Amino acid sequence: MATAAKSLYEVLGVPKNASADEIKKAYRKLARQYHPDRNPGDDDAEAKFKEIQAAYDVLSDPEKRKQYDDFGSADGRGGPGTGWSTFNADAFDFGNLSDLFGGMFGGRAGRQQPVAQRGADIEAVVNLSFEDSLKGVETKIPVQIDTACSECGGSGAKPGTAPVICPDCRGRGVLSESQGLFSLSQPCPRCRGNGTIIENPCPRCHGTGRERRTKRYSVKIPAGVKDGTRIRLRGKGEPGVGGGPPGDLFVVTHVAPSKLFERRGPADLVVEVPVTYAEAALGAKVEVPTPYGERLSVRIPAGTETGKLLRLKGHGAPKLKGGGQGDLLARVRVTVPKKMNKAEREAVEALQKVSREQPREEAFS
Ligand SMILES: [Zn+2]
Ligand SMILES: [Zn+2]
Repeated sequence: MATAAKSLYEVLGVPKNASADEIKKAYRKLARQYHPDRNPGDDDAEAKFKEIQAAYDVLSDPEKRKQYDDFGSADGRGGPGTGWSTFNADAFDFGNLSDLFGGMFGGRAGRQQPVAQRGADIEAVVNLSFEDSLKGVETKIPVQIDTACSECGGSGAKPGTAPVICPDCRGRGVLSESQGLFSLSQPCPRCRGNGTIIENPCPRCHGTGRERRTKRYSVKIPAGVKDGTRIRLRGKGEPGVGGGPPGDLFVVTHVAPSKLFERRGPADLVVEVPVTYAEAALGAKVEVPTPYGERLSVRIPAGTETGKLLRLKGHGAPKLKGGGQGDLLARVRVTVPKKMNKAEREAVEALQKVSREQPREEAFS
């Protein structure tokens, strides 16, 4: 297998006898140059980045480096049994980078963000009338979203200028200080670990590279939503970072209460139906309103008490799942007259005289 591929040393552009420090420096310089964050959508840069990563993985580890020096073939891959032959550049997880660099990349304005991160979910509330919650509506929802600044395209630098390598840390993002035997490293305060500084900040985003923008999404609210129903719109949340996928938008419905109808269970509606004592005792046909504007004729059986539920099948709210409609439940409430005229009073007194009803006898026995 006489491939002409570069050796791992060539990949990093260092001599075979390079010191660990030289290797680290060369790696950081190249990794910065080819990092996917700086070369969005550039497959060649990404391949190169992985190659650099793979080379560094071997050469930064004294053990692996020795094995490579002893057994490595010209193409930089060892045969089986060399201990590192199973290393696969593709298996490298970009997420490790932030550990390695202490947030040198991807972090802006001091925020340390891991590379390739999914965008955050957003919640937006939509207010609906009770009637609209049953009919369903299409509505526009304004959502505040963090986007790349429209002026600088997200770099944070004034258009026409570019971020420059931080002079304090020379782009390393960390400052090292030798104290006798120990070497202390800390994130560079000047560039806040970014490795670069913005000399001329973008006037629009003041160097953050981000901009809050209001996006209006057209959202179809399905018929039958309740107060607090969450509707998920995939991919409409905050954009991802470093090529990560966007988050989701959750639209939460706030439904105004109805004067007449209450929701119960998945799709039932309850309406209170006042009836007189005579209607409840003798039985009657009464009209019950539905939320759809029609009136239904309902038979109240003789001897109906307050609280009795009469089920009107299929006149409830639309079901969100499975189609169809829930039921309308007519809840009977027996009314008592507050003021009676003479005739009424005499009739009730006559009733009391002949009544055999002994309600407490049964209740308290
Ligand atoms: Zn710095
Ligand atoms: Zn800007």
